[in-house]
Amino acid sequence: MKVRLEDIPPEGLEVSFTDSHLGPKDLGAQVIEVLEPPRAELRLELHGDMVGVRGGYSARLLLACSRCLEPMELAMQGPLKVVFQPQPQALGGEEVELADDDLEVSFYSGEEVDLSFCLHDEIALALPMAPLCRPDCPGICPVCGKSLRDGPCGCQAKKTDPRWAKLAKLDLK
Ligand SMILES: [Zn+2]
Ligand SMILES: [Zn+2]
Repeated sequence: MKVRLEDIPPEGLEVSFTDSHLGPKDLGAQVIEVLEPPRAELRLELHGDMVGVRGGYSARLLLACSRCLEPMELAMQGPLKVVFQPQPQALGGEEVELADDDLEVSFYSGEEVDLSFCLHDEIALALPMAPLCRPDCPGICPVCGKSLRDGPCGCQAKKTDPRWAKLAKLDLK
């Protein structure tokens, strides 16, 4: 979703859109499926050559739990607040200092702002790096690889197997 600056009237512009073309891997390696595509409802205001964007977004994704690898649903919702500035001219490699650290600043080039890009960015940042299906997810069994989420796998019982007992004794030496 791109909006041309000339299409933003002085009183501001309400924009809502859904990014339905995004695949799971566009959002993050931990995403298995997009259950409800990212959607944003935004208000754009023109301030000179800057565009203020504020509103909110939502999405519903299926992620893989980082411990047991079982699928888990994540409903995402949050505010979206960005200020677009014109792409700065090359300044001989100097960093452009931004006064307000809390303000998210994006750059546009040409005469339009890319709202899909900032929605995509916001979701990628908000996604948990190591999602957990529940805070105390026990993960998978290191022996058989089965998910322990729904109970023990049986490897615990095998520990009393005499062959394992012998190995255990060897370990104690
Ligand atoms: Zn899990
Ligand atoms: Zn096991």
